[in-house]
Amino acid sequence: MNSHRDTYTTIIVGTGFASSFFLKKYLARASEDVRILVLEKGTDIPYSWKIQNVQNTQYDFAKDLNNLTPQKQWVQNIAFGGGSCWTGNTPRMHPSDFKTRTLHGVGEDWPFDYDELEPYLTEAEEIMGISGAETAEYPRSRPYPAPPHRLNALDRLFQAKYGHQYMAMPSARSPEVSVGRPPCCNNGVCSVCPIGAKFQVDIYMRDIYQDSRVTLITGADVKAVIIENSVAKGVSYIREGKEHEAFADLVAVGAHAIATPYILLNSGLDDYALGRYLNEQISVDVRANLQGVENYDGGQRVTGLGSMFVNEPNRGQIPGCLVENYNIPWLRAEFGKWRHVGLLKFVLEDIPSPDNRVTVSADGRMQVEYAAHSDYMRRGIADIKRRAEALFEGLPVEDYVINSHDDKNLGGSAHIHGTTRMGNDPTTSVLDPQLIHHRVRNLMALGAGAFPTCPAANPTLILAALSLRSAHLLLN
Ligand SMILES: Cc1cc2nc3c(=O)[nH]c(=O)nc-3n(C[C@H](O)[C@H](O)[C@H](O)COP(=O)(O)OP(=O)(O)OC[C@H]3O[C@@H](n4cnc5c(N)ncnc54)[C@H](O)[C@@H]3O)c2cc1C
Ligand code: SF4
Repeated sequence: MNSHRDTYTTIIVGTGFASSFFLKKYLARASEDVRILVLEKGTDIPYSWKIQNVQNTQYDFAKDLNNLTPQKQWVQNIAFGGGSCWTGNTPRMHPSDFKTRTLHGVGEDWPFDYDELEPYLTEAEEIMGISGAETAEYPRSRPYPAPPHRLNALDRLFQAKYGHQYMAMPSARSPEVSVGRPPCCNNGVCSVCPIGAKFQVDIYMRDIYQDSRVTLITGADVKAVIIENSVAKGVSYIREGKEHEAFADLVAVGAHAIATPYILLNSGLDDYALGRYLNEQISVDVRANLQGVENYDGGQRVTGLGSMFVNEPNRGQIPGCLVENYNIPWLRAEFGKWRHVGLLKFVLEDIPSPDNRVTVSADGRMQVEYAAHSDYMRRGIADIKRRAEALFEGLPVEDYVINSHDDKNLGGSAHIHGTTRMGNDPTTSVLDPQLIHHRVRNLMALGAGAFPTCPAANPTLILAALSLRSAHLLLN
């Protein structure tokens, strides 16, 4: 066993969005004499290798996972920078998403509302240089840092029909150079952007890891937090086959929503909610043939976002739903009508179940069990036809096809939430609203594991804002 003899001020686990936004704010507010150890399981892969191999990781996450429900896939990108493979869509949560229990009697209320998170969402958007449009649906304190991308022809029809409930997809790909990155040229191969047009930690937050107060160790697989008498003392990890320990006054685990609860469970914590409520949104594809509409003239991979179905009066029974409009040209195989087609994704929220969970397997690995879709989700999938009919009514749509969705393939959106949920009640949640463990008060868990609900919006902007808020409150 190798132990670092000296104690750090803070140990941060992981270098993805959750950890990096926390670290950025922490460094901005901390004194010059703090010492921060960052432990990252993955390696720092040269970007040229990523482009050549169209891959963001050299690590097989699946081998570490005992997946008891193989019909459901779970994706985590193990590398310096975490989920750099992300597409970069950054919608905000709808204000109603923060209080579905109060408004509709389902799910949970978040422990704070939209207005509380808004300044941190704005700050996260500024750090990421987000492109987007103003709309009354999502009130903002400051404009987006970059202008919206051009809508495509189908978007324009939806926007004329739905007004402020239809907007350009906010995204971490800018149409212009003003945010310090090359403009997105809309070829749609975004998992490894060949020109770095997309915001990602491994390129655009590298500077925080070069701060003299930070020591970064890659290839460090953190296994547990060392906890004595409800105080976190440090972490244990494996590197190059050897066991190590490191010590600190504060431990913040940001290893994503499967590895983080695993590490906490491995540390002896036994909170009821720890590892439970594992969830993701489900999206259902709808392909529409258009009457004489020359589509695919938009400015990015996903051009439009509709919030018209997020907060319908029947939300107690039917999940709220966002509509994404794709601009990647899946052409129609009819001469003269190639572009007369559109592809939409109906993204459904869910009610997380405590039975879907992360545990530690008998051989000590991360283990995931996930039952079939919830009844709420099933009703949402069955209701897509009603929503598609409403969406297309009065528009030049010849016909459309809804992709089938069954229990043999539960899919995977790579938007994993819920396993370290936050709340005010220690008997039903793991973290307080500042992402600090209810009992171990110098232990934090960063990331979408903290989400008490499964909103339809993509998680990364929101979890980044939560990290900024936590670091701000910590050093206030
Ligand atoms: C193909 C794809 C497309 C996506 N598109 C979008 C999108 O358009 N919009 C959106 O909002 N989200 C998107 N996502 C999701 C997004 O990637 C995640 O929400 C985001 O990466 C989560 O941030 P995080 O910091 O919590 O976790 P991560 O970014 O996964 O970071 C976790 C870090 O912890 C490290 N780690 C893990 N285990 C250990 C351990 N035991 N010890 C030490 N370090 C460890 C990992 O290597 C990693 O660096 C997408 C994901 C994928 C896979
Ligand atoms: S569309 Fe092209 S330029 Fe834009 S982010 Fe994706 S890969 Fe990069």
